[in-house]
Amino acid sequence: MEDLVYLDHAATTPIDRRVVEAMWPYFADRFGNPSSRHPSGEVASRAVAWARETAAAAIGASSSEIIFTSGGTESDNLAILGVALALRDRGDHVITTAIEHSSVLEPCRQLARLHGFRLTVLPVDRFGVVDPETLERALDKSTVLVSVMTANNEVGTLEPIREIAALTRARGVLLHTDAVQAVGALPVDVDSLGVDLLTLSGHKVYGPKGIGALYVRRGTPVRPLLHGGGQERGLRSGTENVPGIVGLATALQIAAAERPEYAARAGSLRDRLIAGVLAAVPEALLTGHPTERLPNHASFCFPGVHGEAVLVELGARGICCSSGSACHAGSTEPSHVLMALGLAADVAHTAVRFSLGRGTTGTEIDEALSVLPDVVSGLRA
Ligand code: PLP
Repeated sequence: MEDLVYLDHAATTPIDRRVVEAMWPYFADRFGNPSSRHPSGEVASRAVAWARETAAAAIGASSSEIIFTSGGTESDNLAILGVALALRDRGDHVITTAIEHSSVLEPCRQLARLHGFRLTVLPVDRFGVVDPETLERALDKSTVLVSVMTANNEVGTLEPIREIAALTRARGVLLHTDAVQAVGALPVDVDSLGVDLLTLSGHKVYGPKGIGALYVRRGTPVRPLLHGGGQERGLRSGTENVPGIVGLATALQIAAAERPEYAARAGSLRDRLIAGVLAAVPEALLTGHPTERLPNHASFCFPGVHGEAVLVELGARGICCSSGSACHAGSTEPSHVLMALGLAADVAHTAVRFSLGRGTTGTEIDEALSVLPDVVSGLRA
């Protein structure tokens, strides 16, 4: 695997060796169940308590506001379904955006289909930005929840969460944000963002897959989705994934400490990649916002070629990237995100996404740049 140029960190990241080391003892030596009232259980329970403190500190929260889950998908579902159903008596309206991950959009649609909610899906501009004024107009007396992602996974665009939070706060409406893509690359602080709920996932920040967390501001009503032993303050039953929880917390701690340097380095490599692609590939189109975007993210459309075909050709040359969102791999539908940006379906099908990581080097960017123009022109021919 070492000889691959991996430029698909928005799909998943490798686990940082320091994270693996922190997790390792909790698989076999310290294997206890945190609910057990004996020394083995207490060791595990202390590890989960440490992880809760550490994860909370990484996003400016209190430890009692962190619920560990099985990943970003579950956190999004718990935020949307859990809050809306808890507040059903207060109102029946939820608002989200057209560019959310399916783990937000689908539970919103479930609320409409199965629970009689009204759903407003906000449009975005051609860069993928939600207009706070449009959101303000959509709020009404029965709105109970708004969900807008911090950064988009397909086009990297950053959303104006602070402005949106000022509007929802003023109306007493709860705000959830999916910060899965943002937290590895940008400072994420729940108070400065002003959000009530925030989704995190381990495997996008050099932690393990199958672990995530939901930040729930103190006093926010949430109805659990999983019922059982009452772990995680009754909000997420099931024996805790202790190694995963320790891994997530360690990964968030490392991300918080190393983020400024990483973001600066990734940002300059990303700029080199964008400039190189736009210069060398005729008609290449940068998707997402030109400046308000994740520092490690560059996404394009190459009219005239299928994104999947570019992906396969690059893969054959040892370069790993994505034709949009890996979570929707296998789908032949054009990306709902690119369609929301106003791209025609035939252009949306030409999308290719490069997402950089901590290990990405200038040599790798140059390698991608040396191969891509020929791949695109070969496919066009
Ligand atoms: N939200 C966003 C923005 C994502 O990019 C992803 C994964 O691609 C998820 C949620 C889902 O997270 P997980 O894979 O941990 O379930």
